[in-house]
Amino acid sequence: MAIMKDKILVSEVGPRDGLQNCAGVMPTEIKKQWIQGLFDSGVREIEVGSFVPPKLLPQLADTGEIVAYAGTLPDLTVLALIPNLRGAQNALEAGVDAVTLPLSASETHSMENLRQTHDQVVENVKAIRALLDSVPPDQRPRFEVGVSTAFGCSLEGNVPEDKVLRLSERLVEAGVDELGLSDTTGYAQPLQVKRLIRKVREVAGAERVKSVHLHNTYGLGMANAFSAYEEGIEVFDSSQGGLGGCPASPGASGNIVTEDLVYMFERMGVDTGIDLDRLMACRKFLQAGLPDEELYGFTPNAGLPINFQPSH
Ligand code: ZN
Repeated sequence: MAIMKDKILVSEVGPRDGLQNCAGVMPTEIKKQWIQGLFDSGVREIEVGSFVPPKLLPQLADTGEIVAYAGTLPDLTVLALIPNLRGAQNALEAGVDAVTLPLSASETHSMENLRQTHDQVVENVKAIRALLDSVPPDQRPRFEVGVSTAFGCSLEGNVPEDKVLRLSERLVEAGVDELGLSDTTGYAQPLQVKRLIRKVREVAGAERVKSVHLHNTYGLGMANAFSAYEEGIEVFDSSQGGLGGCPASPGASGNIVTEDLVYMFERMGVDTGIDLDRLMACRKFLQAGLPDEELYGFTPNAGLPINFQPSH
């Protein structure tokens, strides 16, 4: 039986996953204020950007500058997405604490998203491992692969669990430090979340499977997060205001809402280290930087209950 943690880590992905799916481009200065505000409210891991060509994602063209800024905040884990070896080189130069590479369990989605087959991505993973191993251990970023569309794909439909398991085995062999399970499309349901976490931990080792990335397309995001928590998952990706989606997954709505995720855990007495009032106040940076973007979240809409007691 997995052990439920009394403390979990919220990994804020809004500055990457959220912003890349917004039509508008958030000005760099506001992005810095937002990241600073998230940090001040207690967030200790942020996926701040993506090392992809600026032509493809103008919203994230300032990732190098944002990594440098976020790197000045003490005890903040600064994460960036990388699509390939070139991205890993740029991330290394910028000085990130961790890199995350998305690999779609659905090969159709992989072609759409990275224009690479599974074999090609696994070869990339090996090359990235070799690159990271060439730097001293104390400067070496953690290397994660997010297995995306792990619970279903808007292009292929069901994704067989055996496919996810085989890929997980290959990724461990290729040298990843951690594997995250991503519900890119929001197709997951709570019992499936439990089952897949258990199975992937069996083939990859429980110590490598600590995080989930969930979307709220069908309103099951919080149920899935709780399910993962019951399985001992301790890192939860989420996005302030529920920003996000996926360009290669038509119809997929945003990430689970950070404010609601923090509310759920704090309400259960599980420490997130985050001050909800201060967190919700950071929505003002989104409103300033992306005035046309709709923000989601039950907690910000309702306000905190009168008897609300944070866990810390
Ligand atoms: Zn996402």
